[in-house]
Amino acid sequence: MSAKKVLVVEDEFSIREMLRLALEMSDFECVEAQDIHEAYRFITDDAPDIVLLDWMLPGGSGIELLRRLKKEEALQSLPVIMLTAKTQEDNIIQGLEVGADDYMTKPFVPRELIARIKALLRRTSSDQEGDALKVGDLVLDIVSHRVLLENKPLEMGPTEFRLLHFFMTNPERVYSRAQLLDRVWGANVYVEERTVDVHIRRLRKALHAANAAYVDLIQTVRGTGYRFSPRDLSVS
Ligand code: CA
Repeated sequence: MSAKKVLVVEDEFSIREMLRLALEMSDFECVEAQDIHEAYRFITDDAPDIVLLDWMLPGGSGIELLRRLKKEEALQSLPVIMLTAKTQEDNIIQGLEVGADDYMTKPFVPRELIARIKALLRRTSSDQEGDALKVGDLVLDIVSHRVLLENKPLEMGPTEFRLLHFFMTNPERVYSRAQLLDRVWGANVYVEERTVDVHIRRLRKALHAANAAYVDLIQTVRGTGYRFSPRDLSVS
């Protein structure tokens, strides 16, 4: 297997250097950009497998780049981990809502970041075999990594895809947020439980945009968690 390419977008030399060393020690290939314009060029020309994106950058913030990526069909499924010195909940949630798959607040331990990169790559690039999963007119194609509802492609990020894949293969069972984190995000990654709610909301939004009836597939079970229930889908 060839080395996965990680794009580090960070203006501080010492942090870039630390990340490059940590990545190379873990057999990743590392490319570096100092601002979002350089980063965008790397992304379009160099096709990295994952992006580590600093929030505070000169000449345009990381969130601006993230918005731009999410608008482009060819780039919107590129996994992104936000790096931020800001610990305020607002910024983290904003990043997740715009489409980041994960985040780390500085200062962080490189080993934990590497674990998160591996987990994110695992959940975005595995499942390359097998057929399509189907519920009503909702089709999740594992090979092409696309989700279709009534033959129209749904726009969703890699984490929503993985979450939907998990639900479709484990229907009619209630999962707590902790269980979903464990099964969808990976057991060795520490992510706060509210992250699950953000991705559930995004998944519901994607379903709602195509056919409002399909939102009911993902049920909130009060005090417990979430359940994927095709049984109650009125259109199937
Ligand atoms: Ca910075």
